[in-house]
Amino acid sequence: MNILKFGGTSVGSAESISTLIEILKSEREQQNPIVVLSAMGGVTNILLEMAEHARNLQDYSEQLKKVEEKHFHVIRTLLPAGAQNPVLTKLKIYFNELEDILQSVYNLRELSPQTKDLILSYGERCSTVMISHIAKQQFPDALYVEGAQLIKTDNNFGQAKVNTNLTEMLIRDFHEANKDKLLFVTGFVSSNDEGRVTTLGRGGSDYTAAIWGAALNSEEIQIWTDVDGMLTADPRIVKKAFSLPELSYTEAMELSYFGAKVIYPPTMIPAFLKKIPIVIKNTFHVDFPGTYIKHGTSPSTLPIKGISSIDEISVLNLSGSGMVGKAGFSGRLFSMLSREQVNVVLITQSSSEHSITFAVKPSDSLKALSLINKEFELELQARKLEYPEVENGLSVLAIVGENMKRTPGMSGKLFSALGRNGVNVRAIAQGSSEYNISVIISKTDLSKAVNAVHDAFYADLKKTLHIFCLGTGNIGKTLFSQLQDQMPFLADNNDLQVKVMGVSNTRKMLLNPDGIDLTSWEAELESQDIKASLSDFIKKMKSMNLPNCVFVDNTASHNPIEYYLDILQSSISVVTCNKIGNSADYEQYAAFKQAARTYGVDFFYETNVGAGLPIIRTLKDLMLSGDKIKRIEAILSGTISYIFNNYKGGTRFHEVVKEAQEKGYTEPDPRDDLNGKDFMRKMLILARDAGYPLEEKDIDLENMLPASCMAAETVADFYKELENNAEYFEGLKNKAAADSKVLRYIGKMEDGKVSINLQMVDENHPFFTLSGSDNIISFTTNRYKDRPLVVKGPGAGAEVTAAGVFADIINVGKR
Ligand code: ADP
Ligand code: ASP
Ligand code: MG
Repeated sequence: MNILKFGGTSVGSAESISTLIEILKSEREQQNPIVVLSAMGGVTNILLEMAEHARNLQDYSEQLKKVEEKHFHVIRTLLPAGAQNPVLTKLKIYFNELEDILQSVYNLRELSPQTKDLILSYGERCSTVMISHIAKQQFPDALYVEGAQLIKTDNNFGQAKVNTNLTEMLIRDFHEANKDKLLFVTGFVSSNDEGRVTTLGRGGSDYTAAIWGAALNSEEIQIWTDVDGMLTADPRIVKKAFSLPELSYTEAMELSYFGAKVIYPPTMIPAFLKKIPIVIKNTFHVDFPGTYIKHGTSPSTLPIKGISSIDEISVLNLSGSGMVGKAGFSGRLFSMLSREQVNVVLITQSSSEHSITFAVKPSDSLKALSLINKEFELELQARKLEYPEVENGLSVLAIVGENMKRTPGMSGKLFSALGRNGVNVRAIAQGSSEYNISVIISKTDLSKAVNAVHDAFYADLKKTLHIFCLGTGNIGKTLFSQLQDQMPFLADNNDLQVKVMGVSNTRKMLLNPDGIDLTSWEAELESQDIKASLSDFIKKMKSMNLPNCVFVDNTASHNPIEYYLDILQSSISVVTCNKIGNSADYEQYAAFKQAARTYGVDFFYETNVGAGLPIIRTLKDLMLSGDKIKRIEAILSGTISYIFNNYKGGTRFHEVVKEAQEKGYTEPDPRDDLNGKDFMRKMLILARDAGYPLEEKDIDLENMLPASCMAAETVADFYKELENNAEYFEGLKNKAAADSKVLRYIGKMEDGKVSINLQMVDENHPFFTLSGSDNIISFTTNRYKDRPLVVKGPGAGAEVTAAGVFADIINVGKR
């Protein structure tokens, strides 16, 4: 025989109750189950609210009507008109009783724990009466069972302790007398010796099912709920949480004790003692196997079984010299708290014995504080102990699993995931069983932390990068279309999902906590009413507090730079193609790097030099592996490269410049390229990455053009000046040709000195054969000394730059 327990959502609507009946039909084809029911979803909370309203002399009639209507609606939907009356009458009697009780609370302005339990019991009684009547249509032998009278407890109202022997006897006797009937038992409720109603604690219907299962030695205890079993994390926090096929009782206990609401922790005890498997199943996904909690689970390959959390916890810290070396101090503290019914969730003690930190439910925190003040009055007065304070706004996150015992590095993984995402750990506890490592963190970090830890431990799942992009020009647009195209590839080959959470240009901004659809981002952004504000954009990005978060700067503007430091210090990585930040003061450049190191995030800017070409990365790898850079030579201006590659034969210099401009190789004002500034910035960044703390003024930049050209007022004047200087350029060209050389504008770094000048190189020089608008860079190092390491290819253009930004993004967090 099996026990089938249906939770709040499973009995919460006419549809789900019809499904429940179907489940019972198929179960009954095998054997005669016992059905345990919860109150309809949300009803227990409303009952509690009504009770508190009554005590505070507030109106509760609306809520009472709502609860009545919720039940009556189901009856009207599921029963033919002729069969409705008996059950409507029965429920009406319950609701009248309930109203009387609430009225008494109102009159007395007093709500005792006894009365509260009595009020709450109507939830289970109403739902069970109702459903047993509905079931009679299919199962004429359906019988409503007042479960409260069969489970005997002490007087600890609200969370009563079960008298197991007496209870099991009563259940067995009752069952013996009603064996062939289909029993519908109220969950959650119980009674004390005097027959007064007590309850088993919130979520206690699961426990009722286990108590019945143990008393009758059932084959299984099935917990029917609204999710696919016990998942690796709370699905409301972690979208990627997945169902666990099997758990040991201890694992299930640890997971549920630390917040996984899906099963009430005491449920495991009777089942464990009698070795009865608990199966968690989904009423809304009947065919899914769900989770088995049992003895002798098969070995699992998962490093941890799950991550659970308690979102609201209070912490007390007790410290002082009076504790050091005092045997029994913590015994005195914790037995006092336990005697006074304060449940301690977690304890940590520093090895110096100088302080004890423990966590309790917020509702217990003031009680705990005053108990301590009373118990340790003398020590506190003598200053041997510091007066403790309650800290609120904290959460507990715990990783759970039996495999942790055998696998080293679990806590390393946990703390690095937290650290990388800027989650500060306030206290740590590891159970001696090693089944559980718990940390106390700030409540505002909880969702980010659980997601980050989930990503870290379940590496087989796709890791999600959350990106916020600034700039929707050529590069930004191209990046989005590349991301859109590569989505399936990334998922299959890199186990990676890149979610764009925010995008902004100078006019509009768009943020979406579910991620932005890349097929329609442009129209969506345009349709936004809010005007762009960079500071708001960054504030919102920070407040979303997402794990694996990346800020992407696809602009060439000064404005974003001032936020980089703050962003990095918020544990958000930065990927940028914007050179301005790295080529301004050295101090700023160094601060970005330092912040990234301190906060454990990435600062990637591969596209600052040579667009998508692997130049910065190559330099970094050479340095990291201990090679010494002797010399760097480079052509890093695609524009100038194009001009000299095409300045040959009969063409004249100003014509080539014009042609370059017409082909889109230059800035709108070609002087911006030809003055060498952009090249200089790239050389500066390379020199800094090579370890030289240079400033702009340290670079020896030779003007490629005669002074009169650079002094021209307008672009038109500039072209005229180029033409006026035709002879100068012809002279250079002819001289080079006479020596079988070509003109090249080359940047060089040697011994920490950087210069950029116009040179003539012969065919032995690696830059001789450069074509089109390509960039080229050669590294001469200790290892590459006879023949340099050369990187060459297209160093400008939206496609290759966006591809470089893309590569930087997916490399975030790869270290
Ligand atoms: P019922 O009313 O059926 O007893 P509960 O609301 O008590 O259901 O428990 C089910 C809910 O528990 C799920 O809807 C889910 O949101 C929540 N939950 C929290 N943590 C977990 C977890 N690790 N696995 C599954 N569900 C969880
Ligand atoms: N109805 C009770 C509660 O909401 C018991 C249960 O659902 O298990 O806590
Ligand atoms: Mg429950």
